[in-house]
Amino acid sequence: MDAATLRAAMQETYVSDAVLSQYLPYFLDAMKAAEITTELRAAAWCSQLGHESAGLKYMAEIQTSDPSWSEDRTRYRGRGPIQLTWSSNYRKFGQWCKANGYVDDSELFVNQPELVEQPKWGFLASSWYWLKAGPRPGQINSYADAGDILAVSRCINGWIEGQYPNGWADRQARWNRCLALGDALLDETPSNPGGPVPVSGDPVWLEDVLRPALGDRLKTLDGWESDGVGGTMGNIWGVIWHHTGNAAETAESISQGRPDLQGPLAQIHIAPDGIVTIVAVGPCNHAGAGSWPGLPTDGANQRTIGIECAWPRNTALTEETANQERWPDAQIISMRDVGAALTKHLGVPVSHNISHREWARFGPAGQRQFKWDPGNLDMDWFRGEIQKDIDGGFDGPSIPQQPEPTEFQYPSNDQMLKDIWDQMRGVEGKGWPQLGKDDKGNNLTVVDALAKLLSDK
Ligand SMILES: [Zn+2]
Repeated sequence: MDAATLRAAMQETYVSDAVLSQYLPYFLDAMKAAEITTELRAAAWCSQLGHESAGLKYMAEIQTSDPSWSEDRTRYRGRGPIQLTWSSNYRKFGQWCKANGYVDDSELFVNQPELVEQPKWGFLASSWYWLKAGPRPGQINSYADAGDILAVSRCINGWIEGQYPNGWADRQARWNRCLALGDALLDETPSNPGGPVPVSGDPVWLEDVLRPALGDRLKTLDGWESDGVGGTMGNIWGVIWHHTGNAAETAESISQGRPDLQGPLAQIHIAPDGIVTIVAVGPCNHAGAGSWPGLPTDGANQRTIGIECAWPRNTALTEETANQERWPDAQIISMRDVGAALTKHLGVPVSHNISHREWARFGPAGQRQFKWDPGNLDMDWFRGEIQKDIDGGFDGPSIPQQPEPTEFQYPSNDQMLKDIWDQMRGVEGKGWPQLGKDDKGNNLTVVDALAKLLSDK
């Protein structure tokens, strides 16, 4: 990392170039001390220090005294970018410094607390906190490795279940900006010499990479080379797979978006006949809220290529009834070929192909929104198909073996009438216990409950 990268990682910051250059060597030493060895850890570190210190503007608490503060709290007020506070923590920091050979006297900071305002000790105090303190000591780097910026933020700010940390939006925004800087954040080149280099920036290579795999099955939308919702892609982690909810959705409709969501909604559209269309090159609004190891919580649009597959024909299907419509073979074959070509080019394992359903509901942050797409697609089976394709297991298009769907059955008129009857009057006309009881102790029906509501008003 150089001073210009430090400035980019600390945006918005109003600290002068001279001060940032002075901080840089201490900042890098502290990163090393905190075992910040990967891009994910570096993005977590920079985003939290940046948030806590307003872009390294403050190396100590602004407030120097308060009537409610004890003598200890006043003398050992918050210092360093992640504020070291209270004598007990100054002492533990000193002991850690002595154990690591940074100081000879473990009481140095207890005796001279103002030293921690100096960049050398202030940044190291952050390293100590990162590794040893907070609500879940020693776990911050593993949360960073999992891409769980919410847990990292809670470790810094205080962990209250069901509550977001202070400045959550700013912490996330900083994390996303830092991730986009990629390995420039690291002191040295990543520790995989000769290994795959992360693919970063807008995927201007989409057509070049997909054409050999797809031939005539590949089309492009005019202007795809410059289209996107704004901003640029960071290091591309992998692919998120979607269904459109309606087989009639076209590449054009994906490009345009919806009244409630600005397009493009994905970089790629795959039609039921297997035609693949490149729609856009920049970040697209496809992922929304979600989490997954390796990806920033709620921040996948800059890190993943979104693929919208036009499916199903029967728009009345739900997650539960999705197995009643089979994916067309031509579409599945193109999906598998696209997945293989992108996965190979990105140099990532096939596990970096996830469904929108997995992202939205089954990541480390739990369910962030309800999505079930792509329906009737067993992702483990599909990832296996992509892997076979990568390994050259398909000699030309071969028909994927999917489970046969059952015919979609609408309920009979009798069944529907019975459902309505039950909903109005309760099962067997006995009312609904959750609506309350009348003076004879009977459960209320829907009409009874509404009448009661109106009379109670
Ligand atoms: Zn989706």
